[in-house]
Amino acid sequence: MIRLTAGSASDPGRVRRGNQDHALLSDLVFAVADGMGGHQGGEVASEVAVTELGASEAFATLDDLVAAVHRSNDRVVDRSREDPELRGMGTTLCVLAALGPDRLGVANVGDSRIYLGEAGGLLQLTEDHSLVEALVRDGRLTRDEAAVHPQRNIVTRALGIDDKVLVDAWELAPVPGDRYVICSDGLFNEVAAIDIAATLNRIDDPEAAAAALVEAANKAGGRDNVTVVVVDVLDAPEFDDPPRDRVVATRRAVPEGARPMAATDGAAASLDPDDGGGIVDEMVDAETDGAAAETPASVPFITWRLGIFVVAVLFVMGVLLTSVVLYARSTYYVGIDGDEVVVYRGRPGGVLWFDPTVEEEVSLRVAEVDESDLDDLLDGREFDSLDEARQYGVELQLRAEPADPSNP
Ligand code: MG
Repeated sequence: MIRLTAGSASDPGRVRRGNQDHALLSDLVFAVADGMGGHQGGEVASEVAVTELGASEAFATLDDLVAAVHRSNDRVVDRSREDPELRGMGTTLCVLAALGPDRLGVANVGDSRIYLGEAGGLLQLTEDHSLVEALVRDGRLTRDEAAVHPQRNIVTRALGIDDKVLVDAWELAPVPGDRYVICSDGLFNEVAAIDIAATLNRIDDPEAAAAALVEAANKAGGRDNVTVVVVDVLDAPEFDDPPRDRVVATRRAVPEGARPMAATDGAAASLDPDDGGGIVDEMVDAETDGAAAETPASVPFITWRLGIFVVAVLFVMGVLLTSVVLYARSTYYVGIDGDEVVVYRGRPGGVLWFDPTVEEEVSLRVAEVDESDLDDLLDGREFDSLDEARQYGVELQLRAEPADPSNP
């Protein structure tokens, strides 16, 4: 038989008023849910999800565990349909549970995480269903950029949004002495993995370790609700040669979009940036953006949020381009073109892809220029207006000596 022991801690953090996270601890089932949605919606969604999950005391197989997550989804969807105030609420759900007598199971929807503590490090077992994670996978963001990205709260899957939900799941070999951490993003957005690992190594008692991690998140800023469940494997049947990540089977949700969608009703025919097809569950952490409460069950791929983002990017690019053009083309300088002195429009050497162009000739050959003016001309003497450049041309002519006095 598997024996597990666990401790947990949860805190609203230092910025938010309420706590929309919920944790579940029973003998063999442990979970963290991070709710989102205004009007207490997030709080309700995460509570409903873990309560439904907690109704099952144990699971025989990974399929059973995944089925329980689907039931949690159904309960959150039902609740949000019953109460208009709760419409649009959703929650992440990350669960670790015993499967039968000799396996552990993990299931995940959203961007809460399960880590396996290792000597000197942490192994992230779950994959975030988030916008930044999809961008990292596409090579459009680095891990470091994702960690501080302003849209890192946007999840691409959540419970409570649609009747269908995509659940990823893993079957693990339990090894006595292993320590797992289930946490909401309020922990890993504030505390570096290396510091989480150090705390787990330092403190034996799971409850004290969870409390220390929550305290570390608050010390680092506490900008989000933070919930941590630490689960220790006390005892388990011997497993031959367990893999380093303990994963013995993986069951990823197959997105519906893998098949062409008929979309006869025009709804739900959308792309999931996470999986290349399927149902989009775009949710925004409610306290970051209260409008998430209005997110419909099925949102079109191009949401108003994406539209505003695109318009803003185009606007900023337009302003930058205009500034560069103004900077590159608004001035004049007097310089040399071949063996003639000319007035250029632009800046000496050009700016980005804007090269200077000859505006007019000065009627002066380089050979005629007074020696004291040559350095200026080689560098290009700059002026704010064409008139000033012309005036300088006249001065050059006055100082010049004709190259051949017999032919002025
Ligand atoms: Mg959170």
